[in-house]
Amino acid sequence: MFSHETRTDPHLAIAEQATDKPAPTPMRSEAAGDSAPLKHVAAATSGDVPSNSGPVSWQTAMKRAIRRSDELCRYVGIDPAFAAPSAEGFPTFVPLEFADRIKRGDPSDPILRQVLPADDERHEVPGFVADPVGDLRVSQAGGVLHKYDGRALIVTHGACAVHCRYCFRKEFPYSELNAQKSKWKPALDYIRSDPSIEEVLLSGGDPLVLSDQSLRTLVEELESISHVRRLRLHTRLPIVIPQRITDALLDLLAESSLMTWLVIHANHSQEFDPAVVEGLTRMRRRGIALLNQSVLLSQVNDDVESLCDLSKTLINAGVQPYYLHQLDQVRGASHFWVPPEKGLELIDQLRTQLPGYAVPTFVREQSGQPSKTLVV
Ligand code: SF4
Repeated sequence: MFSHETRTDPHLAIAEQATDKPAPTPMRSEAAGDSAPLKHVAAATSGDVPSNSGPVSWQTAMKRAIRRSDELCRYVGIDPAFAAPSAEGFPTFVPLEFADRIKRGDPSDPILRQVLPADDERHEVPGFVADPVGDLRVSQAGGVLHKYDGRALIVTHGACAVHCRYCFRKEFPYSELNAQKSKWKPALDYIRSDPSIEEVLLSGGDPLVLSDQSLRTLVEELESISHVRRLRLHTRLPIVIPQRITDALLDLLAESSLMTWLVIHANHSQEFDPAVVEGLTRMRRRGIALLNQSVLLSQVNDDVESLCDLSKTLINAGVQPYYLHQLDQVRGASHFWVPPEKGLELIDQLRTQLPGYAVPTFVREQSGQPSKTLVV
């Protein structure tokens, strides 16, 4: 069965292999070095309720993340009876920085619903499948997905900042199709051999789980390919663990010769705290273009107030609302489904409340189509 790296835990590997020095966070000083928070790791794997006693490096934030649904329940002050066992191969994974934005004692919290495994995940529903967007059909050498003209996507890593229960790639075979494992060469050779590829997307998983140095190596290789003009990074890390926005990362993105976009992923305004906004502001001040894509999710953001607040939060932080995605029909996510008619009504209502640039484009991805499809 495909899975998010079932054999080893890629998140632990990140913490152990990372060579970056822990960077001070922009708003808070580094209270402890990378080794001190090991007590949180012990807590997070022992069944005790972990505690967030202060800022740590982003690598340590990954390492000390909550990995059990009952621990997540206890951390946010709800009955562990709300916890369902994680689907095989897609365990609970929630960094404390993100869990701290969940309202205590509220089992219907919109962040909690995105990350807490539910019994509904085990329901087989016709039409909800392992590879809903046809990624495997367009898989090329070395972890490249080539779906659309002029653009190619590199699966840079199998790990993510958080495990979203609705993820369309939750059964993606990352252990086989992961460009980093072959030191990028087959992926770069593929891109080099096709002069029609002007834009490269770094995705995963999450490309920002790479160390700054690994990312720099990859970006420099891409910069050396004359027909590649643009770079896009699709990442949830600036939302989940804002201390990932290190000075070295800012330098890399701001100084690249490629026109660069960072596409973040947030679904609800509650995901933004002062540290997240500060990180986004630092990127914007360095001239890095910021877009957001979100997914329309039942009982998370399927009401006009939530979507309106999300767009306002984004534009106030200098982020353009880009896409609102119809849920990809991945196995185990049918409880997040919102009928497209309701999505269209919500978009119509948003248009009456927001400036045009703050209304995201409502799209779905259909396997085999040459572009995203507008929901109309
Ligand atoms: S961050 Fe993106 S790729 Fe990772 S689990 Fe969430 S939706 Fe999936």
